[in-house]
Amino acid sequence: MQTGDSAHLYATYNDYYLIRRTFGQVPGGMFGSDENSRMGYIDPRQGTETCGFAEQMTSDGILTRITGDPVWADNCEDVLFNSFTAAFTTDMKALRYITCPNGVTADAENHSPGIDNRGPFLTMNPFSSRCCQHNHGHALPYYLQNLVMASNDNGLASIMYNSCKTKAKVGDGTEITLIEETNYPYEEEIRFTLQTAQNVKFPFYFSIPGWCKNAGIKLNGKKLNVTANAGEYIRVEREWSDGDNLVLNLPMEIGIRTWEVNQNSVSVDYGPLTFSLKIEEEYNKINSIESAIGDSKWQADADPEKWPAFTIDAKSPWNYGLIVDKNTPSNSLQIVKKEWPADNYPFSPENTPIELKAKGQRIPQWGIDKFGLVDVLPLYPVKTGEPIEDITLIPMGAARLRISAFTVIN
Ligand SMILES: [Zn+2]
Repeated sequence: MQTGDSAHLYATYNDYYLIRRTFGQVPGGMFGSDENSRMGYIDPRQGTETCGFAEQMTSDGILTRITGDPVWADNCEDVLFNSFTAAFTTDMKALRYITCPNGVTADAENHSPGIDNRGPFLTMNPFSSRCCQHNHGHALPYYLQNLVMASNDNGLASIMYNSCKTKAKVGDGTEITLIEETNYPYEEEIRFTLQTAQNVKFPFYFSIPGWCKNAGIKLNGKKLNVTANAGEYIRVEREWSDGDNLVLNLPMEIGIRTWEVNQNSVSVDYGPLTFSLKIEEEYNKINSIESAIGDSKWQADADPEKWPAFTIDAKSPWNYGLIVDKNTPSNSLQIVKKEWPADNYPFSPENTPIELKAKGQRIPQWGIDKFGLVDVLPLYPVKTGEPIEDITLIPMGAARLRISAFTVIN
């Protein structure tokens, strides 16, 4: 922005895609950096720090403001919905240093050099890993601040979708209030209501995510004859009145992504959500002071009983390959919608309002390696004679133990 030199902007995109190509053929919007990105350590069992999630989301917001390119908004939602939420206990009191797309251990052991740093980096601890403790707090405030932006023609742009209330000066400078209500990403519909003391003309833009093929919008109950391709904006310009309401519909469908360099593994998406195997998680309370890494600091009067740490053990098998029809995934995966949770927190295995039913087969040679981490994905193609079983997939963001890059069973 300071030099106005487009080469700097292109360099941002180049870096983004270079890192993803080299270390990031994994779901969740991030890449396998651990602490230092290492050539050869690109399997989905490598993870990213919680502060990395927060920093990526913040960078995505800044880049959206500079470029208007929905690719950054999509990445911010990807990281938030599929990675960030899984880095915390559901009460958000404890966090872990590293969260991986494929991770079935959350113990208090040192996993170096499988993870490129020495320490108990997979434990959920409210005192440990202080860079993440310091940094995680900016992810959600900046995300909320970036949901609705001013457009450069005195209008509004809805960039990412969640319930919020926005006050803005639009058109000739009239102040309006915009109310947005939705359970997105667990529903396809986003409802907007405008409050204004006087009629005011301005353009209203709606960012269409890269995964959405048939977005539609209704104004005061009537479908508007406006469309936009995935990754573009719907623009509605008119004189707006108090009480005008808009309903944006972002139809979701099941999608499959293939990660060629990681043994042709696949990830299952439904709109902005990516799915993980549902693994039975057993939480074990441990002392948060004794299990904190050596350089940790915490408030002297913090009571470790009120701020406990947890390890999480897998109590059900996890080494499944997925049986999937890549061309028509709805043939092999079935969506199950459930009630919105009473406590309003959809990112836990019990609460998630969407699950997928699938079929898988266990792969006996895929286990835990000498560093105590899930093995790298087995070589493609995989053969297994194990029985076909019904398995359940839940959103990655609800799974603290997870397999989200799956070996495909042919
Ligand atoms: Zn950190």
